[in-house]
Amino acid sequence: QWIYLNGQFVPKHEAKVSVYDHGYLYGDGVFEGIRVYSGNVFRLKEHLIRLYESAKSIMLDIPYTLAEMTEAVAATIRRNELVDGYIRLVISRGDGNLGLDPASCPRPNIVIIAEQLALFPAEYYQTGIPIITVATRRNRPDVLSPQVKSLNYLNNILVKLEAKLAGVQEALMLNEQGYVAEGSGDNVFLVKGNKLITPPSSAGALEGITRNAIMELGEQLGYDVREEVFTRHDVYVADEVFLTGTAAEVIAVIKVDGRTIGDGTPGAHTNRLLEAFRQLVVQDGEK
Ligand code: PLP
Repeated sequence: QWIYLNGQFVPKHEAKVSVYDHGYLYGDGVFEGIRVYSGNVFRLKEHLIRLYESAKSIMLDIPYTLAEMTEAVAATIRRNELVDGYIRLVISRGDGNLGLDPASCPRPNIVIIAEQLALFPAEYYQTGIPIITVATRRNRPDVLSPQVKSLNYLNNILVKLEAKLAGVQEALMLNEQGYVAEGSGDNVFLVKGNKLITPPSSAGALEGITRNAIMELGEQLGYDVREEVFTRHDVYVADEVFLTGTAAEVIAVIKVDGRTIGDGTPGAHTNRLLEAFRQLVVQDGEK
């Protein structure tokens, strides 16, 4: 496996950045997770636009044009002969001194990892997963936008820890008003009648690429797709609940805080949207 590191390909175990990298010292940087399906990168442009917007928001200048970054991703896929897998793109502020000031970091470190995907266990898709809501809150969107996919994932990690402590794989984070925001690394949808509802970004949701694809597919399939704030109660009484993300794709939720959703198995709407998504990812890729 070859890692792209600042324009070079380096063997996996030799790919290293300095302990003075501000990504390491302060979580100062941005990242993306992207999927490759049958040799096609799913919505690479959208992922790269989000990456550049995240970087702009934290005043991190990525020294590549969008076209150069696209080519770097393609080269990493070719070098690793990746057909189906996952790409992790990490741009950190770079090596500096121990102070917070990014001015001591002359050049970002650019890392691209292309891996065979460790797929979620197939049984998750057959049985669905139980989840909980946790005490960790989404940071306020007006303080640090959830659209910035930064290397500061501590509250997402706390969500994961709370979930695991409670014996489940995933959990929902609420925002400071107590409305549902999203999962630790995925977005949440409710199905209620013909409505397909997901929280707006103003409620603390990242505008996930998978989320956007599901909203498009939902429209095409005739659902009344809405971005609306909702409470835990709305989740408990939904017909169906599912999570979306690059890694998870579409995963049915069968229990939330001990309340069974629907009949406790993945619902027909969720399965239909998962099928439509799996068709889309093979049709919609970029070489
Ligand atoms: N929410 C958070 C906090 C995430 O990190 C991710 C993963 O990227 C998502 C949602 C899902 O977004 P996407 O579908 O673009 O992977």
